[in-house]
Amino acid sequence: MNYESIFAGAIEALHAEKRYRVFADLERIAGRFPTAIWRQNGAAREITVWCSNDYLGMGQHKAVIEAMCNAATGMGAGAGGTRNISGTNHPLVELENELADLHGKEAGLVFTSGFVSNEAAISTIARLLPDCVVLSDELNHASMIEGVRRSGALKKIFRHNDLEHLEELLAAAGKERPKLIVFESVYSMDGDIAPIARIADLAERYGAMTYIDEVHAVGLYGPRGGGITERDGVMDRIDVIEGTLAKAFGVLGGYIAASRSVVDAVRSYAPGFIFTTALPPSLAAAAGASIRHLKASSAEREAHQRNVGLTKAALKAAGLPVMANDTHIVPVLVGEPELCRKASQMLMEDHSIYIQPINYPTVPRGTERLRITPTPFHGEALIARLAAALSEVWAKLDLPRTFEQAEDAATVRHMGGANTKLAVFPPAGG
Ligand SMILES: *Cc1c(COP(=O)(O)O)cnc(C)c1O
Repeated sequence: MNYESIFAGAIEALHAEKRYRVFADLERIAGRFPTAIWRQNGAAREITVWCSNDYLGMGQHKAVIEAMCNAATGMGAGAGGTRNISGTNHPLVELENELADLHGKEAGLVFTSGFVSNEAAISTIARLLPDCVVLSDELNHASMIEGVRRSGALKKIFRHNDLEHLEELLAAAGKERPKLIVFESVYSMDGDIAPIARIADLAERYGAMTYIDEVHAVGLYGPRGGGITERDGVMDRIDVIEGTLAKAFGVLGGYIAASRSVVDAVRSYAPGFIFTTALPPSLAAAAGASIRHLKASSAEREAHQRNVGLTKAALKAAGLPVMANDTHIVPVLVGEPELCRKASQMLMEDHSIYIQPINYPTVPRGTERLRITPTPFHGEALIARLAAALSEVWAKLDLPRTFEQAEDAATVRHMGGANTKLAVFPPAGG
């Protein structure tokens, strides 16, 4: 058996589909966000990052770095083991209290990443509910899909944000059967928002439990950064709120906030929590400092939204196909993987602007895009430079200027002229 050739063949398939991924070699410069050093072929130069999920630049905030350094100096580098074996670092206890308070829940539980928190919590909750049916939005993140799969529960996928379809599936599941609705607040690729209150209404009517992924909203929305559920006053209507410490909070780790019994059950039964070493005290302390800062300060959130608005307006004025939404994510449609990769490459090489191409399977085929994430540190001068650079790239590559043009091009490429709407926006498969 030639094992090597199997792996080489798998990689070759990605090349053939034009979706082989290459990572940029970057070095962030603390204090000069969003500037970073890019290295390639032995050369190094400064570039501007426009696709970071460190949405507020908190990863470089003085108070966050200081908390991290102090904890490392005082308590050392590692956690020393799983929490079952080595106990819990005190900063982790404080962090979990901070998170429970942020979301108005009885308890919080921290995992080593947001991915792990979804996988571990969803699989454990759905497994503990006898004969559970999971109702999952078709655009849910891979970590949630993995959690549902691992639970072994029956999965029913509802069309994205489609309340009627969700209601149909809830009714079909039957009154007596336990039901868990899993969905996100802000969907990270399109930047649209779930109808949370109305999903909570349905959950109440049909007796379902609710689990929301607020990864792209915590820190960013709500008076204290509690996410869309805080902003819309519906935190108490959702049973489990999941978030990350790695995006707006700028550090690393994931968590759930829920009732004491749900948190205790996940803590006690989830292999992804039990059998892995805890976050080190330095990360817990840094994340805690970030959350505390953003609970008290809205300046970052306001500057963020201001720059997002300016960026969207500038790109639209430049005639670029900005995909509309009400959040901080600025997707610009390309509609083809190779062109998307080329656009990204030209931005980097000719304009020192870094925007990673987003291709299948992260987004449906035909909706390949550049996903731009302005921060409080992307001010007017950088926005003007971005708009000019994108305009030049769009002209050089003759990229679509409207959704109709992108649809037409995608239709020709993918469907040989069939239904255009389906060709451009097929479901990704919750
Ligand atoms: C990034 C992401 C996660 C995973 O969070 P990490 O902390 O990066 O592991 C979970 N859900 C969604 C929607 C995400 O985009």
